[in-house]
Amino acid sequence: MLYTIPDYYHEFSCIAGECEDTCCAGWQIVADEAALKKYKKVTGSFKKRLRRSINWKEGTFKQDKNKRCAFLNDENLCDMYTALGEKSLCRTCKMYPRHVEEFEDVREMTLSVSCPEVARILLGKKEPVRFLTYESNKEEEYDDFDPFLYSKLVDARKVMIDILQDRSKKLDLRVGLVLAIAHDLQVRIKREDIFSIDNVFEKYQTEKAIQFVEDKLTEDEDYAFITKMYQNQYLMERLRDDWEPYLLEAEKLLYGHLKTTDEKTQAEDKERYMEQKQQFHEWLKEHMPEYEIQYEQLLVYFISTYFCGAVYDGEAYVKVQMAAVSVLLIHELMMARWIKNEEVLEQEDVVDIVYRYSRELEHSDPNLNLMEKLMRRDMLPWFKKVY
Ligand code: SF4
Repeated sequence: MLYTIPDYYHEFSCIAGECEDTCCAGWQIVADEAALKKYKKVTGSFKKRLRRSINWKEGTFKQDKNKRCAFLNDENLCDMYTALGEKSLCRTCKMYPRHVEEFEDVREMTLSVSCPEVARILLGKKEPVRFLTYESNKEEEYDDFDPFLYSKLVDARKVMIDILQDRSKKLDLRVGLVLAIAHDLQVRIKREDIFSIDNVFEKYQTEKAIQFVEDKLTEDEDYAFITKMYQNQYLMERLRDDWEPYLLEAEKLLYGHLKTTDEKTQAEDKERYMEQKQQFHEWLKEHMPEYEIQYEQLLVYFISTYFCGAVYDGEAYVKVQMAAVSVLLIHELMMARWIKNEEVLEQEDVVDIVYRYSRELEHSDPNLNLMEKLMRRDMLPWFKKVY
């Protein structure tokens, strides 16, 4: 079995009561069978609390009306941990924010940026992320797995990550190249021509192809595309009650009156958005020049986590588009915060935006599936400048 981790994996440790949020609220925690068995055997003073705080039929921890776990106290500490120790935690609680993608004979482990402390580590990282591998003697076989396609996807992901981390190129060009590779890859997957995938990697590493993509990238700001992507967020399942009001407030700050049919108002809103966007970019370059590195880290995060899942559904392009659009939406939310804060944006604002965005998207399988569906519906042309 091969295990991979990003190089910052061991930097994480939970800051518990110091955390500005908690991972024990907002979603249903499902306990594994082994933990439930253990809980049934607990004796002593905590027994009663355990009995009444677990939905035994569903195997989940009960929640209060604010969707806080029944074991979470007012100091945001876990009473079960305090009473019974770390070993008592169920697999979900022990694992979070560690996330595992499973493939035949491979476990790709990462840390979820839905945890603010992980977001802080990733966004503070200046060097390109490297991935480390370990092997064990364990072997397994899946019934329905295409190891050949998986190996090609792994190769493609490596090429895409290398391009994204090539800081001698502008970020727009790096994203354009990665989308172009994913686009050509998708064509080959659809026509079941997996053998020719290597040609795609070779092609996009030539100077000629890089120049071609650079020339093709359109300068047109696609206001309609951006607002569409933004509005798609309202179609998602909401994990936190404060997420929709937050989106609505940011929407107003960014785009004014999105629902108006008055053409004059629409034109004024668009013009103001364009002006603000330009000012925001200038501000970023001057006051937060590391923002391009942060976008790179986030793109690498989304692509390294989700891209190889295409081995199960053949949808390589939408996974790369999801990465690009997620960073675009984070960028939009950063701009809204900057407008709200009267042209100030702190690193902690970016951490806050990233972890909250990630929670809504990544902690819900229906949302991840819907996001991919929406990416298929609203395809981003590979030659469109994203940021
Ligand atoms: S969100 Fe992260 S830092 Fe905060 S309590 Fe959970 S694991 Fe710890």
